Amino acid sequence: MKNININWVPDKSSKVPIYKQIVHYVCNRISNGDWIAGSKLPSQRKLAELFQVNRSTIVAAMEELQSYGILKSNVGGGTMLASNTWSMLMSKVTPDWGYYIKSGTFRANIPTIQMINKFEFVEGFVRLSTGELAPSIFPHNMLKNVLQKLPERITSLNYLEPLGLLELRQAISKRLEKQGIYVPASCILITSGSLQALQLISICMLKSGSTVYTEDPSYTKSLQLFQSAGIKLVGLPMDNEGITYWGIAGMKGQKRNSLLYTIPSFHNPIGSVMSLRRRQELFRFCTNNGLPIVEDNAYGELWFDEEPPKPLKSMDKNGMILYLGTVSKTLGPGLRIGWLVGPESVVERLGDVKMQIDYGASSVSQWMAAEFFSSGLYDEHLTHIRHQLKKRRDIMLSALNRYFKDLGYWNIPMGSFYIWLELKHPISTKKLFNEALKEKLLVNPGDIYNFSQNGAIRLSYAYASEEDLWNGIKKLAKIILRV
Ligand code: PMP
Repeated sequence: MKNININWVPDKSSKVPIYKQIVHYVCNRISNGDWIAGSKLPSQRKLAELFQVNRSTIVAAMEELQSYGILKSNVGGGTMLASNTWSMLMSKVTPDWGYYIKSGTFRANIPTIQMINKFEFVEGFVRLSTGELAPSIFPHNMLKNVLQKLPERITSLNYLEPLGLLELRQAISKRLEKQGIYVPASCILITSGSLQALQLISICMLKSGSTVYTEDPSYTKSLQLFQSAGIKLVGLPMDNEGITYWGIAGMKGQKRNSLLYTIPSFHNPIGSVMSLRRRQELFRFCTNNGLPIVEDNAYGELWFDEEPPKPLKSMDKNGMILYLGTVSKTLGPGLRIGWLVGPESVVERLGDVKMQIDYGASSVSQWMAAEFFSSGLYDEHLTHIRHQLKKRRDIMLSALNRYFKDLGYWNIPMGSFYIWLELKHPISTKKLFNEALKEKLLVNPGDIYNFSQNGAIRLSYAYASEEDLWNGIKKLAKIILRV
C-alpha cells in the first residue's frame, strides 16, 4: 500500500474555511494523479500535525471526504483513498497512474533505502548511514580555483562525443598508469557516476536469467538494478583475504553470460581489502573459466597508511575486466562523474546506448573533473581527505571501544568510509533501524547488503560531524541495550 506525501498547509488568512481548503487539497492531489486509489492516509493526529491544524478540523474534513466516498476506512484500522465511482469518474479525465506505475520493469528501491533517502534530508538527523564526505571536508577553495579556470577551457556547452570529453578521458588514462593500468582514452567511457556504468552493463550486456556473482555482503545487493533486469545475484561468502570464488566452480547452472562483480579495495559495506594472493587466484580462476569481472574501485584511492594491492585490472592483458571508477567518494557524487574501462568493443556499445539514454554526463562536470585532475588539485585534495578520514575513523573506533565492547565485533578499516559492526547478540536490525529513527539517528542495517546472515550494521564515519560520530555511537549502544 502506498503512503502519501503532504507538503502543504492551509492558508489561515483565507475566507475559505480551513477544513474546506483541506478537502479541496485532497481532491486536487487525487485528480492530478499524485495520490492513487488504495493509498493510506496518515493518522488523524499526524494529519493535524502536517496541516498544522486542530484535530477537530481534520475530523470535519475527513467526514466530508468520506461522505463523497473518496475516503474509506481500512480493515486493519486507518483510512485509505477509495477506488469507487468517484475515482472512476476522475479516471475518465486522469489516466490510472497506479496501473502505469506498477507496469514498468524497474523495481522500487528497498523500503529501508527509501526511508534513508528521505530522512537524510530531514534536519537534525545524525547520519552514520551516509557514504559521502562531510561538507566540512569539501574542497571549497579548490572548487573556486577550478571554476575560475572553466570559462577559458569550455568552448561550448554542446553535446560531447559518445565516450565523453577527450581531455577527461586522457587525464583518467594518465592517472590509471599509476595503478598499473595502461589503456588509451578510446577504452574509457565517461558515465553519470559508476552506478550508471552498472546499469549500462545490466541492460546492454546481460540477458534475463544470467547470474552475477558477488561478495556476500555486497553493495549491489542494496540496489535493484540487476534484479530489475531479471538477473540473479549470487552472494559468495568472504574470508579474511576476500571473496571465496571457488564456490562458483561447484554451482550448477549456466555460467555463460554471467559475470563476477567485486569491490576488492575497501569493500562496501565490509571495508576490507582483498589480498594480493586472492586477487591473483581470482583473476586466474575467472580467466580459466571465461568469467568476466566487473571491478568496482570506487574507494581504492582512499587508503590511510598504505596503498592496497594494485587493481585486478592491472593483471588484465586479454580484456577480461570491466573496471569502474568514480569521483563520487573523493570529490562528491553531485558531479555525477564516473568511468568504465574495458575493451573498445564494449565501451563503444555502452557509449552508444548512453547516447540514447542521456546524451552524455554533464559536460560542465566533465570539464571540472578534467581540471581537478590535470591541475594536480585532485591529488592534493586526496592527501587531505585521507588524513581527515583516518582521524574520523579513529574517533569512531574509540567510541566503539568505549560503548560496544560487550555488544559487538568490528573491523579496523585501513581506508575509505565504513565499519561493519556485527552484534554479539543479533537482534532484528530492521527494528533497530526504526528505533534509531525515532531518536534521529540513521544507520544502515546490514540486511540490505547481506544475502544470508543478519545482525550487522554498516557504520560510516565519513559524513557526520566529529562530535556526532561519538554521540551517535553512544546513542546506538543505548538503543541496542533497550530493543
Ligand atoms: N560503487 C560502490 C561500491 C559504491 O559504494 C557506490 C556509491 N555508494 C557506487 C558504486 C555508486 O557511485 P556513483 O554512481 O555516485 O559513482
